[in-house]
Amino acid sequence: MAKATDGRYLAGGHALLPLLKHRLDHPSDLIDLGAIAELKGMAVAGGMLTIGAMTTHAEVTNSDVVRASIPALADLAAGIGDPQVRNRATLGGSVAGSGPTADYPAALLGLGATIHTDRRQIEADDFFIGTSKPVLGKGEIVIAVAFPVPEKAAYVKFPGLASRYPLAGVFVGKFLNGVRVAVTGAGPCVFRHPDMERALATDFAPGAIEGLRIPVAGLRSDLHASAEYRAHLVGVVARRAVAACG
Ligand SMILES: Cc1cc2nc3c(=O)[nH]c(=O)nc-3n(C[C@H](O)[C@H](O)[C@H](O)COP(=O)(O)OP(=O)(O)OC[C@H]3O[C@@H](n4cnc5c(N)ncnc54)[C@H](O)[C@@H]3O)c2cc1C
Repeated sequence: MAKATDGRYLAGGHALLPLLKHRLDHPSDLIDLGAIAELKGMAVAGGMLTIGAMTTHAEVTNSDVVRASIPALADLAAGIGDPQVRNRATLGGSVAGSGPTADYPAALLGLGATIHTDRRQIEADDFFIGTSKPVLGKGEIVIAVAFPVPEKAAYVKFPGLASRYPLAGVFVGKFLNGVRVAVTGAGPCVFRHPDMERALATDFAPGAIEGLRIPVAGLRSDLHASAEYRAHLVGVVARRAVAACG
């Protein structure tokens, strides 16, 4: 990468290769991360589940380690795209891309995860700060993501019919010291919902967030759904996520 004039890392290629095919990106070099063993694998230690950046969505879905520690994460990975996508696309590619409609960012923010790179550790709250500002430096590699294991967690999305990207998705993480609620698909970037977090910290039940509205201003509006519809969906999937926590 240091030698390339304008290089790109290649993970699963399911975001990068379409860009190249449509001539929307013209890198000088592709650097395949696929052979780096240190970027793979999953382990639980000290209340944290750590997943290597090159772990595919299918590997997360089928992992006993993930199912035993944070089943909501395995369920989230199972709902991404289709089998071809899940067998190629990776956690690191999803995080580095930080797409506003991606599923994984909701889990990172909803669990308060830490992103480990080859240079530093970045809290999810400091990583997902908008679509326009790149948080990763030039050539910086996402190595792994460390997720705190919650008491309970669930992710529910309302998927678009073709891609299964969420029109709105909400990840709820309940911890001993509080509740985190992260919304993806609806805004320009994944974001937390402090009003829902406060309400659920007092009463962890779907009824506690009934009637809580999110402002329509600033939400995405496109051919799939209007901003008003997305604002409504956030409330619906948030209540479903709390109910799914059991
Ligand atoms: C048909 C289709 C349906 C999809 N549906 C969904 C969906 O429902 N939900 C969803 O969340 N996502 C969906 N995705 C996106 C998918 O889950 C991945 O987010 C996407 O493919 C990127 O991951 P990748 O491993 O393929 O990365 P790549 O395409 O290889 O790379 C993406 C970008 O990240 C960079 N990069 C990759 N890995 C690293 C790393 N470790 N460190 C630093 N930079 C890195 C690359 O240089 C590139 O710029 C879909 C994709 C497709 C093609």
